[in-house]
Amino acid sequence: MKQTICTKCILDTTSKLISFDQNGVCNFCHKFDEDAKDVLYVSDEIKRERFTKEIQRIKKLGEGKQYDCILGLSGGVDSSYLAIIAKEQGLRPLVVHFDNGWNSELAVKNIENIVSRLGFDLYTYVIDWELFKDAQKSYIKASVLDMEVPTDMLIFAVLFDIAKKYKIKTILSGYNLATEGVLPRDWSYERKFDAVNFRNIIRKHGNPKTLKKFPYLGYYRHHIYKNYYQINLVALLNHLNYKKAEVKKRLMAELDWQDYGGKHYESIWTRFYQGYILPKKFNIDKRKAHLSNLILNGELTREQALEQMKEEPYPAELQMEDKQYVCKKFGFTLPEFDALMALKEVPHAAYGQETDSPKKMKIFERISLIVLFQFFYRFKIIRRPQ
Ligand SMILES: [Zn+2]
Repeated sequence: MKQTICTKCILDTTSKLISFDQNGVCNFCHKFDEDAKDVLYVSDEIKRERFTKEIQRIKKLGEGKQYDCILGLSGGVDSSYLAIIAKEQGLRPLVVHFDNGWNSELAVKNIENIVSRLGFDLYTYVIDWELFKDAQKSYIKASVLDMEVPTDMLIFAVLFDIAKKYKIKTILSGYNLATEGVLPRDWSYERKFDAVNFRNIIRKHGNPKTLKKFPYLGYYRHHIYKNYYQINLVALLNHLNYKKAEVKKRLMAELDWQDYGGKHYESIWTRFYQGYILPKKFNIDKRKAHLSNLILNGELTREQALEQMKEEPYPAELQMEDKQYVCKKFGFTLPEFDALMALKEVPHAAYGQETDSPKKMKIFERISLIVLFQFFYRFKIIRRPQ
């Protein structure tokens, strides 16, 4: 009989990229081990050393500035924990929160609690709803897999922009191998900063005005932020022994934080996307990846994970409630939305892709420098060398 599920984690053939070795262990488990080798599977002493070094570096880069780092806070477990760590380590973050119109009431409450208890400054970025709605609806109409790109694009574009404005060199990232290291590559669009893909999807399915105003990032702009402005994303949680269940307990005890019942469920849209659209339209259940992470991180047995998978991603009643809410907010009738759900998947690549090859980035950089110097010479801001 053909093997359909990994013997170590619970990932299965719903990922087209899965393969199994002679013991039935999948390639994602092997990839996790490979990635974790120099990060998670090192001694506590090395981790502590790396962590201390990183904190010192952030402080040094932030000397004399109002803030030494930026912390994007969604109110989810990872970013909330990062806020506690920042406080403990005496960092001075500017906390940035994104309001894209989908925050659950609980998320808003959690964020208010965290910021007031830890005494951090909060900058809430509210995106114009009509603009954001147009971007999200374009992705739904485009029938592409990753409908979270507009949110991710917005978050990083704004974080980098604020970092530049305040001359901050570090953006704290909640990313961590321990709870996010396993994710089949075909379950999301990995090229989150792909401006060409983004623009073409909006051009075809949305309002061209959206493109003028939407703060999106591209690989070239990211390259400039990273290499010219030296702004870096730092994944601090990788240097800690991160156990999700323990962290949740701490968040509840210290910050009066309340659980959402699922990863990224702090946003009503994300809950609906992960718990309804992905399973129903694309046959993808991200819980398989989230729970597999916890198995590999030693927090859950494979049996416990399989037991959890017997339940719906979230209560069916709430799914229906969310569906009506989402349709109303987007201005779709239920039959219109169902028709969009029934459309065949269109690969992201069908909308074109931006290059991110380092060689081409260098060429772009040189061309823009030449253009800039021509401008300076033309208006005699600087003299042409003799
Ligand atoms: Zn596996």
